[in-house]
Amino acid sequence: MRDAQDWFTESYPQYGSALSLKIKAKLHEEQTPFQRIEIYDTEWFGKLMVIDGCTMVSDRDNFLYHEMMTHPVLYTHPAPKTVWIIGGGDCGSLREVLKHEEVEKAVQIDIDERVTRLAERYFPALCDSNDDPRAELLFIDGIQWVKDAPEASVDVIIVDSTDPVGPAEGLFNEAFFRECHRCLRADGILAQQSESPLFHMPLITSMHRIMRQAGFSQTRTLFFPQFIYPSGWWSATMAGKGDLSRFRADAAVAKPFPTQYYNAEIHRAAFAVPEFFRNALREL
Ligand code: SAM
Repeated sequence: MRDAQDWFTESYPQYGSALSLKIKAKLHEEQTPFQRIEIYDTEWFGKLMVIDGCTMVSDRDNFLYHEMMTHPVLYTHPAPKTVWIIGGGDCGSLREVLKHEEVEKAVQIDIDERVTRLAERYFPALCDSNDDPRAELLFIDGIQWVKDAPEASVDVIIVDSTDPVGPAEGLFNEAFFRECHRCLRADGILAQQSESPLFHMPLITSMHRIMRQAGFSQTRTLFFPQFIYPSGWWSATMAGKGDLSRFRADAAVAKPFPTQYYNAEIHRAAFAVPEFFRNALREL
């Protein structure tokens, strides 16, 4: 048994549980104007980024999150040309989005430039595509960005944010969803990380309700494993102006780029709705 100091632990007292990762060293710690960022070297998960005490990204399992935040929505949209990523400062979602040749422009809008600078230093593989001529990196508040953006100017908005507290709180309310709806073109889709189906059902059901109140005709949640997040089971929720059951399956089967998790079968399976979830949404 090694000393407790060899472990990074994130506790979820309200859910009587915790996650611990064995660490080799703390590599960095700083307080930015927005949040506290820590970087660890772990024994088995590689580098780990933590924001305000919450795990964000590990070398070992970030592919699950980044692939599932991007490829399902991009293969659901009939022709995604312009994509905004709100948050996503580690650049992993940007890298996955830019694997799609049909994407002509991808703008990442993160409030905190330090997240990206530290990702460049400690997670260089995630930042592989930052110099792609189709990529633009902005360091401003995503809430303000959508407020200021012209109507019908984007095909897909991906909200790859921290939890709905602190600077990300305003990314989970009806006013924000209304602005996203206004900025999206016909067939436009908003895809947002929506926390754990095991721990955060009130949040997920409220997202469905207010996304519809904000004008979206359809909402749909997809599920995937994510070891380093609370409960190990995570979700993303889509809100669409068009039909969210569409799937460019032939394109997904023939995808010209490698993935580690996503494929056409995973796409279909990820949208399968567990019984408790179906029942919770029925009550909306
Ligand atoms: N994969 C992570 C998760 O679900 O835990 C999210 C990772 S990403 C690092 C989250 C990013 O959201 C952070 O870099 C943070 O700066 C950004 N963020 C939080 N609130 C924001 C806002 N209002 N506008 C833009 N970015 C925001």
